[in-house]
Amino acid sequence: MRRSHARPGTPGTPGASRKERIEQSLRARATSDTVRTAFPAVEHIRLTLTFIETTEPAPAPQTLVLHPPAQAYFAFPCPWSDCDGQFDLGTMARDAIERRKTTLDGSLVCDGQRARNRSARLPCELRVNYSLGVQYLK
Ligand SMILES: [Zn+2]
Repeated sequence: MRRSHARPGTPGTPGASRKERIEQSLRARATSDTVRTAFPAVEHIRLTLTFIETTEPAPAPQTLVLHPPAQAYFAFPCPWSDCDGQFDLGTMARDAIERRKTTLDGSLVCDGQRARNRSARLPCELRVNYSLGVQYLK
């Protein structure tokens, strides 16, 4: 294979590594327990992610609802397509549900790096405000 543009020490293109990360994430999601198995007392979990970006228009907010047959998986790739980071709410979600909390709000900052141009990778630092709402079975 000819790779005339590859430079020594240059990692794969952001697009390729993002694809790999998404595939890894999908595999991890596929092998995680379902909500019913992990959290038998839960009827559904609603998760809202609101992104805060100061230097450019923020990615669209995301909302998802996990029902008992869904995978209990709470890690999400950073929405910027050139970033290698992810937001992992798994520990916080598990902790909140074990304590039977009905709401959990907080924020996280992406610790990934963005390939804004070909020669430099800059810290992403995209902030997400998360809001978790848990409905328990009666
Ligand atoms: Zn990021």
